[in-house]
Amino acid sequence: MSDSTPTSRVGQVKDITSLSNPVIKDIRALSMKKHRDETGTFLAEGLKLVIDAIELGWAIRTLIYAKAQRGKPQVEKIAALTVARGGLVLEVSDKVLTAITRRDNPQAVIAVFEQRVTALDQVKLKPDQTWVALDRVRDPGNLGTIIRTADAAGAAGVILIGDTVDPFSTETVRATMGSIFAVPLVRVSEAAFLAWSKKASPLLVGSHLKGSVDYRTIGYKGRPVVLLMGNEQAGLPDTLAQACEKLARIPQAGRADSLNLAIATGVMLFEARRHCLELGDPPRE
Ligand code: SAM
Repeated sequence: MSDSTPTSRVGQVKDITSLSNPVIKDIRALSMKKHRDETGTFLAEGLKLVIDAIELGWAIRTLIYAKAQRGKPQVEKIAALTVARGGLVLEVSDKVLTAITRRDNPQAVIAVFEQRVTALDQVKLKPDQTWVALDRVRDPGNLGTIIRTADAAGAAGVILIGDTVDPFSTETVRATMGSIFAVPLVRVSEAAFLAWSKKASPLLVGSHLKGSVDYRTIGYKGRPVVLLMGNEQAGLPDTLAQACEKLARIPQAGRADSLNLAIATGVMLFEARRHCLELGDPPRE
């Protein structure tokens, strides 16, 4: 069947085998930040991720699946839902899937979604909430892992300060393992973050190698908490560190200078959540 010819099966499913198809060219261009920014969309790979997204109320703009998936109940259901909501459904060859994902063994189901970013002035802090704020995070794997960890720890969201890596890059989305759909993301300049923090007055805890307090001694309960993490290379700048009510240190043994940013975030975050959720100490064996 030729490109962009609707199949008789569903009526609105396009069967595509050519890499020069303009729709495929557009989807492949989503590997570039410029195109993601222009279209306000991004790509997520894998049936589980796509199902997670739908369950969380995200609408699919374009669903793409391998021919071999045709007839599989879950795929058919998602395809029908996508068409019903005005999205496009493409059944493609393995060659096309490999080209879109730039992987030899691509996921058999991928989808294009609209990006979602929450404005900081829409964030209404609640006493039991913990937010993670990241200063100029550079590494997509770190950012994805932090979004996933924030989700697992029950954090309220992740605030991206300054010039950060794109949260909707394929690498970041992959590393979130689906949590990109569950965790609200805020993007903000350093100046706007400082102004907001002064006004909203959360317990702002900076994570700092030279922190004066052990992160385990802080009382995280009773107020909304924002855990502020520094950049991978430079750490927290003085402008942000000075705004913090506490500067916390994770005690280290051994010769490592510091912890990886995502690991440090996980350690701090689970401690803060333990207080807020009143999980208490684990039962003894
Ligand atoms: N050279 C950087 C510096 O001087 O801060 C190292 C940055 S570290 C890789 C990235 C971030 O993880 C730090 O800015 C801090 O927020 C957090 N971090 C890493 N290890 C930490 C520790 N032992 N205590 C507190 N925060 C830590």
